[in-house]
Amino acid sequence: MGYIELDLLEETTRKIVIGIDLGTTNSLPAIWRDGRPEVLRVEGEPALVPSVVNFPEEGPPLVGHAARAQAVVDPRHTIFSIKRFMGRGLADARADARSLPFEVSENENGVLQIDVRGRKITPPEISALILRRVIEQAEEAFGGAEVQSAVITVPAYFDDAQRQATRDAARLAGIDVLRIVNEPTAASLAYGLDQGDAGTVAVYDLGGGTFDVSILSIEEGVFGVLATAGDTHLGGDDFDAALVDLMREELARDLPEEDLDDPAFLQAARLAAEKCKIALSGSPAHDLALSLPSSGTTWRRTVTREEFEQRIAPLVERTLDACRRCLSDAKLRADEVDEVVLVGGSTRVPAVRAAVEKLFGRPPHTGLDPDQVVALGAAAQAQVLMGGTRDILLMDVTPLSLGLETMGGAVAKLIERNSRVPCSHTEGFTTYVDGQTAIDFHIVQGERELAEDCRTLGRFRLSGIPPMAAGMARVAVRFHIDADGVLTVTAKEQTSGVAAEIECKPMHGLTDEEVEEMLAAGFENAQADFDARRVADLKAELGTMLRAVDKNQETARKQLDRETLEDLEEATQAARKAREGNDLDALVRSRDRLEQASQPLAAVLMDAVVKEAVTGKKLEDV
Ligand code: AMP
Repeated sequence: MGYIELDLLEETTRKIVIGIDLGTTNSLPAIWRDGRPEVLRVEGEPALVPSVVNFPEEGPPLVGHAARAQAVVDPRHTIFSIKRFMGRGLADARADARSLPFEVSENENGVLQIDVRGRKITPPEISALILRRVIEQAEEAFGGAEVQSAVITVPAYFDDAQRQATRDAARLAGIDVLRIVNEPTAASLAYGLDQGDAGTVAVYDLGGGTFDVSILSIEEGVFGVLATAGDTHLGGDDFDAALVDLMREELARDLPEEDLDDPAFLQAARLAAEKCKIALSGSPAHDLALSLPSSGTTWRRTVTREEFEQRIAPLVERTLDACRRCLSDAKLRADEVDEVVLVGGSTRVPAVRAAVEKLFGRPPHTGLDPDQVVALGAAAQAQVLMGGTRDILLMDVTPLSLGLETMGGAVAKLIERNSRVPCSHTEGFTTYVDGQTAIDFHIVQGERELAEDCRTLGRFRLSGIPPMAAGMARVAVRFHIDADGVLTVTAKEQTSGVAAEIECKPMHGLTDEEVEEMLAAGFENAQADFDARRVADLKAELGTMLRAVDKNQETARKQLDRETLEDLEEATQAARKAREGNDLDALVRSRDRLEQASQPLAAVLMDAVVKEAVTGKKLEDV
């Protein structure tokens, strides 16, 4: 009797360690069992847990399928895509928050809060509810075991704050986090790529609402992220929208516009579109069908796969552009990638697979379910960490360039984006005016050419520089990012040994959205940025020239003939005026003019310097 009781006790307290894919749209648990990872699902139920939470008027929140079912009838209390808000402040999340039917605010620590039924709730709390649901599924699927800890996956570009928020969610859900692992790394692990000969792996992840591509390096089982790129608002939902557009175009002949904009119509159209899209992944043609309750009519027409592919071609092309960008950041050609892994439900679309295969010149891995591959890899990683044999280290990259503001507001980049951490770089700077005893440093992050368009990470001052002529001080500035992604900037004046140091968290509070936006802005504004940078540089150059002329006013008046002096004065005035504006051409013209007009003065000054040198010496020394 006692024996049986003990057995039961052991059974009910059995602790398990699992892997969790905590996704934007869906989440999923998996475990390592009998030498391989497997998804934890309850018999007869779907495996994926929708990452959706609904707050009913009474009773506890609904999570997963039950919550998603409420979305149509109770949209104001149903929260989707909370992952987009993890670890972000109000300013970071405003663009995404606008599309939500909730009030959002910020607490005193800058943490986002969503107002639901008069209660303010943070993203980690909502994620914790999703995690809890995932854990319950795992425990039920494993016959009443208790989940003790988990490996949880996050996108490769998730910053410190976002990873921390994910940890917080796990803590709130009552489990230990064994490790936070990058999603593309997990996907590669699921395919066992850490054990093969692969040197580089491209992971193409196209889900419902987001697209990510990462290029990883594997050296002796050690994973590094060489580069990441993507689009936080591109996915299967856009494929659905392409079919909704087709419906609207054709229905526009028979229906008034307001009917086509009706939310109920749109919701029904989206569902019909997704159904048709999924069917087209398996067959060459399918009916797109829609019942219109308002008029009681049914609309139906056959869509061929070819027609669908044409409609989504520009979207697929956008993912390929991101892949090319990622390759270029990783300094690799497409044919240098050894393995390609597909992740996300939308990679089931044959045209997507074909496009990826064509770009990389090799067939991608498709053996595992693209919706499960990340969770399976997380389970594999959990197994490793629980004492399995494989030893896999993970490395990171800095997703945006880091630099210093230079004279005139331009940016000198010291560490390029996608540099592997830890890393460091040193560059020389100098003083700008005679007798300058301090230099202010403004540390910025971003891809834009002007400091004001980048994000400020910190400012500090190096003071105590002995007075010297402008340009004589030798200041070495070193940027160092350690393995945890913490940036330390040190500045040292070489001749005097005066030094200063600042530590800043490069990624704190910076969002994937912002990263994407900043990257996109960097590309879109390349020409404008280039001009702005030239304007800034020219203004600085003119400033130096004008100061030199001012300083030697007296010499000019004494030594130059009237015509030359007048010409110089006019050129000086024109330069001052041009410097007040931002007209690139005017700045170039006035710089050239001033350069020419000041040449006689420069010659006089040179003469004086030579004479001084000569008169200061004995004749025989000359
Ligand atoms: P995920 O976010 O990875 O779960 O991906 C969800 C997206 O994959 C949604 O847009 C689905 O419509 C899409 N999806 C799922 N199955 C298929 C399929 N067989 N063919 C095309 N798209 C699919």
